[in-house]
Amino acid sequence: MKKIKFEKNGKIFTLKAIVCENKDLIKFMNRDYFMNLCKSGCPNYNTNWSCPPNSPRFDEYSADYDKSLLVEVTSEVKDDEEFMEAYIQNRNTLEDLLSKMQIDFECIKTACGSCNLCKRCAFLDNKNCYHPEKMRYSMESMGMDLQKMSEEIFDHQLTWNSKKEQSTTCTSIGSILFNGTFLEDDFCDLARDYRF
Ligand code: SF4
Repeated sequence: MKKIKFEKNGKIFTLKAIVCENKDLIKFMNRDYFMNLCKSGCPNYNTNWSCPPNSPRFDEYSADYDKSLLVEVTSEVKDDEEFMEAYIQNRNTLEDLLSKMQIDFECIKTACGSCNLCKRCAFLDNKNCYHPEKMRYSMESMGMDLQKMSEEIFDHQLTWNSKKEQSTTCTSIGSILFNGTFLEDDFCDLARDYRF
């Protein structure tokens, strides 16, 4: 696993990256459990082409690719306001970086959260996705247990703000799916050169 620290707008971010075989990631898929969680608690459920139940299963979606580069971006936060700011910053930073990797390595990225490319998703108007070539699914929408994955692979526990407890870190996880012999260093060289 590779680890890089970088600064953006006066904040320190930690980026961890690791290459995994997709067959080894399947054990983190719990599609039915997360589908039900989304159904009972997420306002985006069945409102977007990228969200359950419209998203595919990870094992089917990743079938044409041997490997994934998992990328985790973490920043420290002091309060609820900082947590929300960091959530957006982490997500944007990761999306930018994965988009660049996607072009440079001719691979396919997964998204961080639901697709927000259009102001109103075509799904709501019973139309096909307006940008199928750009739209991507998040790993969680495909049934992946990011909490378990982060603990086992990155040795990092994902924490969230609640009324009882203030989280001290904000974390986003994304990935690219690829074939070939790229190493973590190949991706991290790009991350180091990237102007965050
Ligand atoms: S690209 Fe637009 S239409 Fe397609 S999933 Fe994203 S928001 Fe919906």
